[in-house]
Amino acid sequence: MVDVHGVHKSFGPLEVLRGVDLQVRAGEVTVILGPSGSGKSTLLRTINHLEKLNRGWISIDGELIGYRRSGGKLHELKEKDVLRQRTHIGFVFQNFNLFPHLTVLENLVEAPVSALRRPRKDAVAAAGRLLERVGLADKADAYPRQLSGGQQQRVAIARALALEPKVLLFDEPTSALDPELVGEVLDVIKDLARTGTTMIVVTHEIGFAREVADTVVFMDGGVVVEQGPPAAVLDAPRHERTGAFLSKVL
Ligand code: ADP
Ligand code: MG
Repeated sequence: MVDVHGVHKSFGPLEVLRGVDLQVRAGEVTVILGPSGSGKSTLLRTINHLEKLNRGWISIDGELIGYRRSGGKLHELKEKDVLRQRTHIGFVFQNFNLFPHLTVLENLVEAPVSALRRPRKDAVAAAGRLLERVGLADKADAYPRQLSGGQQQRVAIARALALEPKVLLFDEPTSALDPELVGEVLDVIKDLARTGTTMIVVTHEIGFAREVADTVVFMDGGVVVEQGPPAAVLDAPRHERTGAFLSKVL
Protein backbone atom coordinates (compact mmCIF):
# COMPACT_ATOMS: atom_id res chain seq x y z
CA MET A 1 0.00 0.00 0.00
CA VAL A 2 2.84 2.39 0.87
CA ASP A 3 6.19 2.18 -0.90
CA VAL A 4 8.96 4.55 0.16
CA HIS A 5 11.97 4.20 -2.08
CA GLY A 6 15.41 5.77 -1.58
CA VAL A 7 14.00 8.97 -0.13
CA HIS A 8 16.37 11.86 0.57
CA LYS A 9 15.31 15.15 2.10
CA SER A 10 17.46 18.12 3.10
CA PHE A 11 16.70 21.45 4.68
CA GLY A 12 19.49 23.64 3.34
CA PRO A 13 22.74 21.93 4.31
CA LEU A 14 21.02 19.61 6.82
CA GLU A 15 20.36 16.18 5.35
CA VAL A 16 17.43 14.87 7.39
CA LEU A 17 16.46 11.79 5.38
CA ARG A 18 19.44 9.97 3.92
CA GLY A 19 17.94 7.21 1.82
CA VAL A 20 14.84 5.78 3.47
CA ASP A 21 13.18 2.61 2.20
CA LEU A 22 9.94 1.39 3.73
CA GLN A 23 7.14 -0.87 2.56
CA VAL A 24 3.79 -1.12 4.30
CA ARG A 25 1.32 -3.80 3.21
CA ALA A 26 -2.40 -3.14 3.11
CA GLY A 27 -4.07 -3.72 6.46
CA GLU A 28 -0.81 -3.66 8.40
CA VAL A 29 0.38 -1.41 11.20
CA THR A 30 3.92 -0.07 11.11
CA VAL A 31 5.28 1.63 14.22
CA ILE A 32 8.26 3.94 13.79
CA LEU A 33 10.53 4.47 16.78
CA GLY A 34 13.61 6.60 17.04
CA PRO A 35 15.28 9.40 18.93
CA SER A 36 14.20 13.01 18.60
CA GLY A 37 15.59 14.56 15.44
CA SER A 38 16.00 11.24 13.60
CA GLY A 39 13.65 12.32 10.81
CA LYS A 40 10.40 10.55 11.77
CA SER A 41 8.12 13.56 11.36
CA THR A 42 9.86 14.57 8.16
CA LEU A 43 9.30 11.08 6.77
CA LEU A 44 5.56 11.23 7.53
CA ARG A 45 5.39 14.70 6.00
CA THR A 46 7.07 13.52 2.80
CA ILE A 47 4.57 10.64 2.56
CA ASN A 48 1.79 13.23 2.70
CA HIS A 49 3.78 15.47 0.33
CA LEU A 50 3.79 18.26 2.89
CA GLU A 51 7.54 18.18 2.13
CA LYS A 52 9.01 17.76 -1.33
CA LEU A 53 11.64 15.09 -1.87
CA ASN A 54 15.16 15.75 -3.04
CA ARG A 55 15.63 12.22 -4.29
CA GLY A 56 13.69 8.94 -4.39
CA TRP A 57 9.95 8.40 -4.68
CA ILE A 58 6.90 7.41 -2.67
CA SER A 59 3.81 5.64 -3.96
CA ILE A 60 0.52 4.82 -2.29
CA ASP A 61 -1.64 2.08 -3.73
CA GLY A 62 0.55 2.18 -6.83
CA GLU A 63 0.23 5.93 -7.42
CA LEU A 64 3.27 8.22 -7.16
CA ILE A 65 2.74 10.96 -4.57
CA GLY A 66 3.49 14.52 -5.68
CA TYR A 67 5.03 13.54 -8.98
CA ARG A 68 4.32 11.82 -12.26
CA ARG A 69 6.84 9.90 -14.27
CA SER A 70 7.37 10.58 -17.93
CA GLY A 71 10.32 9.86 -20.13
CA GLY A 72 12.06 8.22 -17.15
CA LYS A 73 11.93 11.49 -15.20
CA LEU A 74 9.80 12.73 -12.30
CA HIS A 75 7.73 15.86 -12.84
CA GLU A 76 5.97 17.69 -10.06
CA LEU A 77 2.19 17.45 -9.97
CA LYS A 78 -0.02 20.52 -9.88
CA GLU A 79 -1.21 21.65 -6.46
CA LYS A 80 -4.80 20.53 -7.11
CA ASP A 81 -3.61 17.01 -7.97
CA VAL A 82 -1.53 16.91 -4.80
CA LEU A 83 -4.59 17.98 -2.79
CA ARG A 84 -6.61 15.19 -4.40
CA GLN A 85 -3.89 12.67 -3.46
CA ARG A 86 -3.80 14.01 0.08
CA THR A 87 -7.48 13.18 0.60
CA HIS A 88 -6.43 9.51 0.47
CA ILE A 89 -3.85 9.98 3.23
CA GLY A 90 -5.12 10.65 6.74
CA PHE A 91 -2.84 12.54 9.10
CA VAL A 92 -3.23 12.76 12.87
CA PHE A 93 -0.97 15.29 14.58
CA GLN A 94 0.43 15.48 18.08
CA ASN A 95 -1.63 18.60 18.81
CA PHE A 96 -5.01 17.47 17.38
CA ASN A 97 -5.32 20.50 15.04
CA LEU A 98 -9.13 20.52 15.12
CA PHE A 99 -10.94 23.56 13.70
CA PRO A 100 -11.64 25.50 16.92
CA HIS A 101 -14.61 27.46 15.55
CA LEU A 102 -16.46 24.33 14.34
CA THR A 103 -18.41 21.83 16.40
CA VAL A 104 -17.16 18.27 16.65
CA LEU A 105 -19.69 17.17 14.03
CA GLU A 106 -18.79 19.99 11.65
CA ASN A 107 -15.10 19.13 12.04
CA LEU A 108 -15.96 15.73 10.55
CA VAL A 109 -18.35 16.98 7.87
CA GLU A 110 -16.23 19.82 6.43
CA ALA A 111 -13.68 17.89 4.36
CA PRO A 112 -15.97 15.22 2.88
CA VAL A 113 -18.33 17.95 1.67
CA SER A 114 -15.71 20.42 0.42
CA ALA A 115 -13.00 18.05 -0.83
CA LEU A 116 -14.99 14.97 -1.87
CA ARG A 117 -18.25 16.76 -2.80
CA ARG A 118 -20.27 14.35 -0.67
CA PRO A 119 -23.90 15.34 -0.11
CA ARG A 120 -24.08 17.02 3.30
CA LYS A 121 -26.73 14.60 4.52
CA ASP A 122 -24.47 11.61 3.80
CA ALA A 123 -21.46 13.31 5.41
CA VAL A 124 -23.48 14.04 8.56
CA ALA A 125 -24.67 10.43 8.77
CA ALA A 126 -21.13 9.11 8.28
CA ALA A 127 -19.80 11.55 10.90
CA GLY A 128 -22.36 10.25 13.41
CA ARG A 129 -21.20 6.68 12.83
CA LEU A 130 -17.55 7.68 13.21
CA LEU A 131 -18.21 9.53 16.46
CA GLU A 132 -19.95 6.44 17.78
CA ARG A 133 -16.94 4.40 16.79
CA VAL A 134 -14.58 6.59 18.83
CA GLY A 135 -17.05 6.75 21.73
CA LEU A 136 -18.02 10.40 21.35
CA ALA A 137 -21.54 10.32 19.89
CA ASP A 138 -22.72 12.52 22.77
CA LYS A 139 -20.17 15.25 21.91
CA ALA A 140 -21.34 15.99 18.36
CA ASP A 141 -22.44 19.54 19.21
CA ALA A 142 -19.56 20.40 21.53
CA TYR A 143 -16.67 22.64 20.50
CA PRO A 144 -13.09 21.32 20.68
CA ARG A 145 -12.17 23.58 23.64
CA GLN A 146 -14.91 21.89 25.69
CA LEU A 147 -13.23 18.48 25.32
CA SER A 148 -10.29 16.85 27.08
CA GLY A 149 -7.11 16.29 25.08
CA GLY A 150 -7.93 12.60 24.75
CA GLN A 151 -11.39 13.37 23.43
CA GLN A 152 -9.99 15.95 20.99
CA GLN A 153 -7.53 13.43 19.66
CA ARG A 154 -10.32 10.84 19.21
CA VAL A 155 -12.25 13.46 17.22
CA ALA A 156 -9.12 14.12 15.15
CA ILE A 157 -8.89 10.40 14.36
CA ALA A 158 -12.57 10.29 13.39
CA ARG A 159 -12.05 13.36 11.20
CA ALA A 160 -9.15 11.65 9.41
CA LEU A 161 -11.31 8.56 8.87
CA ALA A 162 -14.14 10.64 7.41
CA LEU A 163 -12.16 10.89 4.16
CA GLU A 164 -11.91 7.07 4.01
CA PRO A 165 -8.13 7.23 3.61
CA LYS A 166 -6.06 4.42 2.14
CA VAL A 167 -3.50 4.95 4.87
CA LEU A 168 -3.55 6.75 8.18
CA LEU A 169 -0.39 8.46 9.47
CA PHE A 170 0.01 9.30 13.16
CA ASP A 171 2.76 11.59 14.43
CA GLU A 172 3.15 10.99 18.17
CA PRO A 173 -0.62 11.01 18.70
CA THR A 174 -0.38 10.68 22.48
CA SER A 175 2.69 12.80 23.25
CA ALA A 176 0.69 15.93 24.14
CA LEU A 177 -1.71 14.07 26.46
CA ASP A 178 -1.78 13.74 30.21
CA PRO A 179 -0.77 10.16 31.07
CA GLU A 180 -4.26 9.12 32.15
CA LEU A 181 -5.65 10.05 28.70
CA VAL A 182 -3.14 8.09 26.62
CA GLY A 183 -4.99 4.77 26.94
CA GLU A 184 -8.29 5.93 25.44
CA VAL A 185 -6.53 7.18 22.30
CA LEU A 186 -4.40 4.05 21.94
CA ASP A 187 -7.58 1.95 22.35
CA VAL A 188 -9.13 3.70 19.34
CA ILE A 189 -6.01 3.05 17.27
CA LYS A 190 -5.99 -0.60 18.40
CA ASP A 191 -9.61 -0.93 17.29
CA LEU A 192 -8.68 0.44 13.86
CA ALA A 193 -5.83 -2.06 13.67
CA ARG A 194 -8.22 -4.93 14.35
CA THR A 195 -10.42 -3.86 11.46
CA GLY A 196 -7.53 -3.77 9.00
CA THR A 197 -6.79 -0.05 8.63
CA THR A 198 -3.37 0.54 7.10
CA MET A 199 -1.44 2.73 9.52
CA ILE A 200 1.99 4.20 10.14
CA VAL A 201 2.36 5.31 13.74
CA VAL A 202 5.28 7.32 15.12
CA THR A 203 5.21 6.84 18.88
CA HIS A 204 7.33 6.25 21.95
CA GLU A 205 4.71 3.86 23.39
CA ILE A 206 6.70 0.63 23.31
CA GLY A 207 3.90 -1.45 24.87
CA PHE A 208 1.57 -0.33 22.10
CA ALA A 209 4.19 -1.21 19.48
CA ARG A 210 4.61 -4.66 20.95
CA GLU A 211 0.89 -5.33 21.04
CA VAL A 212 -0.32 -3.77 17.79
CA ALA A 213 2.51 -3.43 15.28
CA ASP A 214 3.03 -5.89 12.46
CA THR A 215 6.37 -4.21 11.81
CA VAL A 216 8.52 -2.04 14.04
CA VAL A 217 10.94 0.32 12.31
CA PHE A 218 13.81 1.94 14.17
CA MET A 219 15.09 5.18 12.62
CA ASP A 220 18.22 7.07 13.57
CA GLY A 221 20.16 9.77 11.75
CA GLY A 222 17.78 9.86 8.80
CA VAL A 223 17.94 6.17 7.91
CA VAL A 224 16.05 3.01 8.83
CA VAL A 225 18.52 1.24 11.09
CA GLU A 226 16.46 -1.93 11.45
CA GLN A 227 12.95 -3.22 11.00
CA GLY A 228 11.05 -6.40 11.65
CA PRO A 229 8.36 -8.00 13.81
CA PRO A 230 8.04 -6.39 17.26
CA ALA A 231 9.52 -9.35 19.10
CA ALA A 232 12.65 -9.26 16.95
CA VAL A 233 13.29 -5.51 17.04
CA LEU A 234 12.21 -4.87 20.63
CA ASP A 235 13.52 -7.97 22.37
CA ALA A 236 16.50 -8.91 20.25
CA PRO A 237 17.69 -5.82 18.36
CA ARG A 238 20.57 -6.54 16.02
CA HIS A 239 21.98 -3.03 16.08
CA GLU A 240 23.71 -1.35 18.96
CA ARG A 241 21.89 1.95 18.31
CA THR A 242 18.49 0.25 18.60
CA GLY A 243 19.45 -1.39 21.86
CA ALA A 244 20.80 1.88 23.26
CA PHE A 245 17.56 3.71 22.36
CA LEU A 246 15.34 0.99 23.82
CA SER A 247 17.28 0.86 27.06
CA LYS A 248 16.46 4.56 27.49
CA VAL A 249 12.73 4.40 26.75
CA LEU A 250 11.80 1.04 28.32
P1 ADP B 1 11.80 13.64 14.63
O1 ADP B 1 10.35 13.72 14.24
O2 ADP B 1 12.38 12.26 14.48
O3 ADP B 1 12.08 14.22 15.96
P2 ADP B 1 12.15 15.63 12.54
O4 ADP B 1 11.79 14.98 11.26
O5 ADP B 1 11.14 16.53 13.15
O6 ADP B 1 12.63 14.52 13.57
O7 ADP B 1 13.44 16.51 12.35
C1 ADP B 1 14.65 15.98 11.87
C2 ADP B 1 15.65 17.11 11.72
O8 ADP B 1 15.21 17.99 10.70
C3 ADP B 1 15.82 17.95 12.96
O9 ADP B 1 17.17 18.30 13.08
C4 ADP B 1 14.98 19.18 12.66
O10 ADP B 1 15.47 20.30 13.34
C5 ADP B 1 15.13 19.32 11.16
N1 ADP B 1 13.98 19.96 10.51
C6 ADP B 1 12.71 19.48 10.46
N2 ADP B 1 11.92 20.28 9.75
C7 ADP B 1 12.68 21.32 9.34
C8 ADP B 1 12.44 22.49 8.55
N3 ADP B 1 11.23 22.75 8.04
N4 ADP B 1 13.48 23.33 8.33
C9 ADP B 1 14.70 23.06 8.82
N5 ADP B 1 15.01 21.97 9.55
C10 ADP B 1 14.01 21.11 9.82
MG1 MG C 1 8.69 14.32 15.31
